[in-house]
Amino acid sequence: MRSTKLGEFDLIELIRRRAGTGLPADWEGIGDDCAVLPWSSGESLLLTTDMLVEGTHFRMDWTTPYQLGVKALAVNLSDVAAMGGRPVASLLAIGLPPGVGHRAERGVGQGGDRGVEMAWAEEFLRGYSSFGVPLIGGDTTASENGITLSITALGIVENTHLKRRSGAQAGDLIGVTGWLGSAAGGLKALQSGIYEADSLLEALHTPRPHLPEGAWLGAQPGVHAMMDVSDGVAGDLRHILKASGVAAQVDLEKLPISSDLQRVALKNGWNATELALTGGEDYVLLFTFDPALKQQIEEQGFTIIGRVVSANADTPGRIDFGGECNGLDFRGYSHF
Ligand code: ADP
Ligand code: MG
Repeated sequence: MRSTKLGEFDLIELIRRRAGTGLPADWEGIGDDCAVLPWSSGESLLLTTDMLVEGTHFRMDWTTPYQLGVKALAVNLSDVAAMGGRPVASLLAIGLPPGVGHRAERGVGQGGDRGVEMAWAEEFLRGYSSFGVPLIGGDTTASENGITLSITALGIVENTHLKRRSGAQAGDLIGVTGWLGSAAGGLKALQSGIYEADSLLEALHTPRPHLPEGAWLGAQPGVHAMMDVSDGVAGDLRHILKASGVAAQVDLEKLPISSDLQRVALKNGWNATELALTGGEDYVLLFTFDPALKQQIEEQGFTIIGRVVSANADTPGRIDFGGECNGLDFRGYSHF
């Protein structure tokens, strides 16, 4: 059999073509932050799944079980926020290696007593429950190689509030709801073995899903497209542009970079702009909107980072960074 290595997005495209077709006409499947199914008259059901894998997404010596519980659900709720919806429930599937609590709480108990694992689970669930979203099911299994968490979140959205990646229009402005690059800065600090700033570690370990922001943006008819930023704003903006058949100009000077990240980047010789554009796991919302909304967007504290322009036949997805990014590759983060 011919073996061809696929990138993450090529694999998703193959899955979509081979297994994602034949849906009822009023269902929306692969391609946006959530699948969208009819729910009641005027409302749709949102469905999204995200996994966290030990070693890939988290390390037990860098994160507490409470933080892991928060993050595992937060990254899913962020996708509900990205569609303009409100979360209503979640499902939790966990694969646990034996003795997980002992690895998590080094030095506490060496002999496999179940109390320590109970403490780990209690803390994980305290984090997971912190959003007040009911857990309605899941699966529990043993794992040979580290902890795996697979979570499905369900949300509801009024149809008139539903925002897709495909709605961006030439002439729109582009906004983001929070800091870019902070989580990537936190990860870089941990990888370099340095302690820098609490805010960067908090951004990495306990991201806040931007649910109020998503609900507000959803309620604005002038907001045309939205997604959450999980893989770096440059790559994620490209998803909106491609889905909408448009291009963009981004003003690198406008990227919202926290003062902590600026300070730490300067001190350690990191490129904060690069972290803001390509670092993963920001979990802020990225949206495009009618310029008539500009003042209200600014009053919300959101940052305008650029504008949507028409694409030539061969340039949907193209981002012009104003020539300030020589030599840097801003394609965004792919897991493969
Ligand atoms: P997000 O970062 O918002 O979770 P992704 O970039 O992971 O989105 O995925 C893009 C789209 O591809 C989403 O609609 C997602 O549901 C879909 N997708 C990703 N992986 C798979 C898979 N293994 N099978 C089916 N659909 C997938
Ligand atoms: Mg998303």
